[in-house]
Amino acid sequence: MFIDGRTIPDGAIIETDLAIIGAGAAGISIARALADTGIDIALIESGGFEFDPATQDLAEGASTGVPYPLDTSRLRYFGGSTNHWGGWCRPLNAPDFEKRDWVPWSGWPISRADLDPFYVRAAVVCELGASSFDDPAPWSSRSGNRPLPLEGGEVETRYFLFSPPTRFGTRYRKDIETAPHVRTYLHSNVIDIATDDQAAEVQSLAIRTLDGKGYEIRPKRCVLATGGIENARLLLASNQTIPAGLGNGHGVVGRFFMEHIHVPGQIAFVALSDSQMFSPYYQDHERIGTGWVRGVFMMSDDYLRRKKRLGSNMAIYSDHAPTIDPAKAAQDPGLAVEPAVAGMIRQTTSNAPAGATPMIYGISCATEQAPDPASRITLSRETDALGMPRAELHWTMSALDRRSLAGNIRAVARAFGLWGEGRVRIVFDQGEDWADEEVGWGNHHMGTTRMSDDPRFGVVDADCRVHGVSNLYVAGSSVFTTGGAVNPTLTRVALALRLADHLKAGN
Ligand SMILES: Cc1cc2nc3c(=O)[nH]c(=O)nc-3n(C[C@H](O)[C@H](O)[C@H](O)COP(=O)(O)OP(=O)(O)OC[C@H]3O[C@@H](n4cnc5c(N)ncnc54)[C@H](O)[C@@H]3O)c2cc1C
Repeated sequence: MFIDGRTIPDGAIIETDLAIIGAGAAGISIARALADTGIDIALIESGGFEFDPATQDLAEGASTGVPYPLDTSRLRYFGGSTNHWGGWCRPLNAPDFEKRDWVPWSGWPISRADLDPFYVRAAVVCELGASSFDDPAPWSSRSGNRPLPLEGGEVETRYFLFSPPTRFGTRYRKDIETAPHVRTYLHSNVIDIATDDQAAEVQSLAIRTLDGKGYEIRPKRCVLATGGIENARLLLASNQTIPAGLGNGHGVVGRFFMEHIHVPGQIAFVALSDSQMFSPYYQDHERIGTGWVRGVFMMSDDYLRRKKRLGSNMAIYSDHAPTIDPAKAAQDPGLAVEPAVAGMIRQTTSNAPAGATPMIYGISCATEQAPDPASRITLSRETDALGMPRAELHWTMSALDRRSLAGNIRAVARAFGLWGEGRVRIVFDQGEDWADEEVGWGNHHMGTTRMSDDPRFGVVDADCRVHGVSNLYVAGSSVFTTGGAVNPTLTRVALALRLADHLKAGN
């Protein structure tokens, strides 16, 4: 059942077994997973079914440090940011969960094996059509499809699967509407999580609507699923009992904000003497069997360990950066690229075997960030239309982040060079002097309520329960201890389904 929060009488008090704050990928996944358990659920969503500028304005905030757009990197209505996500899905690799001695603050309290069964279920929720990622056999069975035989052991082809992309708000609206024990409160903003005197148990949620009304939901248990920035903001703003904010006894809430750093445009070009060598799944996502698949270049686990680097994933961009036909580029000054690339085009053309079509492609790159406590969400002095302090993000980029990105693209160039059939020209030459204003991002908000067994270093425990608060849980990529080098939503949904199982078991 959907209820417009603006129709609820001012001052009303509603009781429920479980409140889920936020109806995005995480919140909707949990509500669906618990829909047939008999648990009475209140799903509380800030927006309605459509984009609304006044509601979206609640996501506006300030950015210091590396510039970052707080409002355009998420959406505030039913379905959340999946209303405009791209659908790239891949699990984190097993070493991403481990303590890496060269990555400060690394090491999740859970392993990839703990999440494996939930990744399989998350793949169904995200409608991937398959759930096996690293076995190339299914993707290579089609004639002509095979991973590039890159050499040197530093770079490997890994695979993404694609969601249609599933718009959670549209795709699962009926499920949520008809679930007998789920009531969804729209146009309802939680502005405070109130607790007992010790801040050890959530007692009620203060809710405001943009037309100035207020009501209260009193849950037995509560899941915070408002996205990687808002989860921290709401905990920090829930400061009536403890001035530093709820769950913030050790000052960790909001810290360790991570993104996937991007180089805007191409980081490099790759020239192949024969375009046929590139399986179609490198150039765009390709329908293979029941799934859409895309091959990307990622660093091998051994390379990352040896070189003490963070991971990257690099995709061939023939859709964003039209591929250049070297034969035409050589004759047409309109297609001229910078001299170094033009030289590569000439060389590739002259080396091409008879009958082959040489081709040049752009390479994009997304790189993991090392957790940094100084990279953080705090509360701004400015308030929003509901009187809640806006979020302020101070995003940082470390020397290890920069070194990793610059080193990883060189590794890709080496791998092509050793193979001998292709050449890579690196066009990103800022290296460690990369100006903050030129850094790109992936709209992935991670780490601000990170998971750790030790409350001094994390906000939630391995069950996603807030340390010290018996009935409060967090869902979403704010719980990521480290972010890996792949898009986060599949892992976020897997963690949400794992949390749903935990709640179902009565914990
Ligand atoms: C342009 C773009 C492209 C992307 N592409 C990809 C991709 O290809 N692959 C990938 O893995 N990820 C991608 N992402 C990221 C992905 O969309 C998000 O990571 C994911 O949707 C986050 O899920 P969530 O449930 O944690 O948060 P959200 O989807 O942001 O949902 C949070 C919900 O909580 C509500 N809310 C917030 N505050 C309150 C409050 N105080 N009270 C009540 N409700 C509240 C919001 O209205 C929202 O509906 C992309 C993001 C963007 C912006």
